[in-house]
Amino acid sequence: MTRTRTLSGVKPTGHLTLGNYLGALRRWAEEDQHRAESLFFVADLHALTVEHDPARVRRLSRQAAGLLLATGLDPRVCTLFVQSHVDEHARLSYLLGCVATDGEMRRMIQYKEKSARAQAAGQSVRLSLLTYPVLMAADILAYGADEVPVGEDQTQHVELTRDLAERFNQRYGQAFVIPRATRPAAAARVMDLQDPSTKMGKSHGATAGIVYLLDEPDVVTKKVMRAVTDSEAGVTYDREARPGLANLLEILAACTGKEAAALAAGYDAAGAGFGVLKKDVAEAVVELLRPVRARHAELSADPGYVDGVLREGAARARAVARPTVDAAYRAVGLLPPA
Ligand code: ATP
Ligand code: MG
Repeated sequence: MTRTRTLSGVKPTGHLTLGNYLGALRRWAEEDQHRAESLFFVADLHALTVEHDPARVRRLSRQAAGLLLATGLDPRVCTLFVQSHVDEHARLSYLLGCVATDGEMRRMIQYKEKSARAQAAGQSVRLSLLTYPVLMAADILAYGADEVPVGEDQTQHVELTRDLAERFNQRYGQAFVIPRATRPAAAARVMDLQDPSTKMGKSHGATAGIVYLLDEPDVVTKKVMRAVTDSEAGVTYDREARPGLANLLEILAACTGKEAAALAAGYDAAGAGFGVLKKDVAEAVVELLRPVRARHAELSADPGYVDGVLREGAARARAVARPTVDAAYRAVGLLPPA
């Protein structure tokens, strides 16, 4: 039996957040890399889909790679690389763009949200923002990944990837493995602490409601203590009616391994107010991030090490992706070079 193959990535569009960690990164390090043949990458090409500063993307790419290592990814058991170092992503993306339809792209929720955000900021919407899910499908399909561990917001893109793979296979022959998204048990969608109707996102401008992995402990505490809740009495877990409170409970659930509803019942029975809950959440998050921050500081002192990991990772990734993408090129009718 072949081993499960897992692949996932993170965009260098901003400093990595608690949402990224709880929704994706933590599982990559704690579970996925030990259980499956795993590849993780810094999705730098995806960072160019919105207005960007070249020097910042470079800096954030390095930082993201360092943070992935700091969360516990072990280059001896998984492959860590930078997307743009492996040409196969862009090569396959073009082919998949010939299988996907314009209507499919425009239906993507993230496209609608991010294009609205760009327009509101007076920026033009890049064509690559529309075609981004095709590149993401290429990221996944090039490696024959079975599983894609992502936060809830990426479910739609993984579904699209499945559709494109099935369509391609049907038209041109069995070329791709059909992947599936996997989600964390809790905190699959961490919300902004100041606006619990919006997902916590590292590229968002307003930072007061976003906990960054590299925030100092007192900053984390301040952000959590100021989280928006509601004016109802008592602690109950209700995502629809009480999103701010539910978000805090879910974050605590993810930190402690307990159920959000059970935590709520505990606070309620004890007659504890929001202040007590927030204090517990702040402490739990600070402790959760402490080792990551410490390892990141160590790694920052040794940029040569990170570079070496990325170099080897890209070579390994290329070797996996190349044959699959070459086969897809032949399958659609492109003449192989003589
Ligand atoms: P951007 O605002 O640029 O889209 P982002 O914070 O959404 O940044 P991504 O690089 O798009 O981060 O996503 C990296 C991973 O983190 C994905 O698996 C995504 O599903 C997950 N993720 C992102 N935000 C959250 C969140 N708020 N809660 C849970 N998971 C999240
Ligand atoms: Mg995102």
